[in-house]
Amino acid sequence: MTGKIKSNRYCNGCSAICCMNLSMGIGKPANQKEVEDLKWQLQFDTVKVYIRKNRWYQLVEGRCMYLSKDNFCTIYDRRPQKCRSHNPPNCERHGKYYDVMLENPKDLEEYLTSKKRNKYF
Ligand code: SF4
Ligand code: SF4
Repeated sequence: MTGKIKSNRYCNGCSAICCMNLSMGIGKPANQKEVEDLKWQLQFDTVKVYIRKNRWYQLVEGRCMYLSKDNFCTIYDRRPQKCRSHNPPNCERHGKYYDVMLENPKDLEEYLTSKKRNKYF
């Protein structure tokens, strides 16, 4: 994550998408309880789950407290390592970063049913 940094050609003109969501790796639900827990989390409209290359991630939408109103990082020189390691050519702005996006409990249920993923429980 770099914010809308003019010195970075990859970020020019971007509205700092990466500073407006929090993405965390999570385990694939391994049993019915974990499915129910994930469905509960997906009841919240700020929470989504996406799958990329068979890895599951939780996405929490919300602005970073250090993002200015005009979408610049206000602590760019001392931004956290997580932000420094975010790779613009592979970032949210440059192509689809997920294979499957699950936005609510129904999406999760349908995904598990259609793929018969629940067979491995
Ligand atoms: S989403 Fe990508 S292009 Fe936009 S600010 Fe973040 S790293 Fe830069
Ligand atoms: S610290 Fe800066 S680069 Fe990191 S998420 Fe916040 S605004 Fe973006």
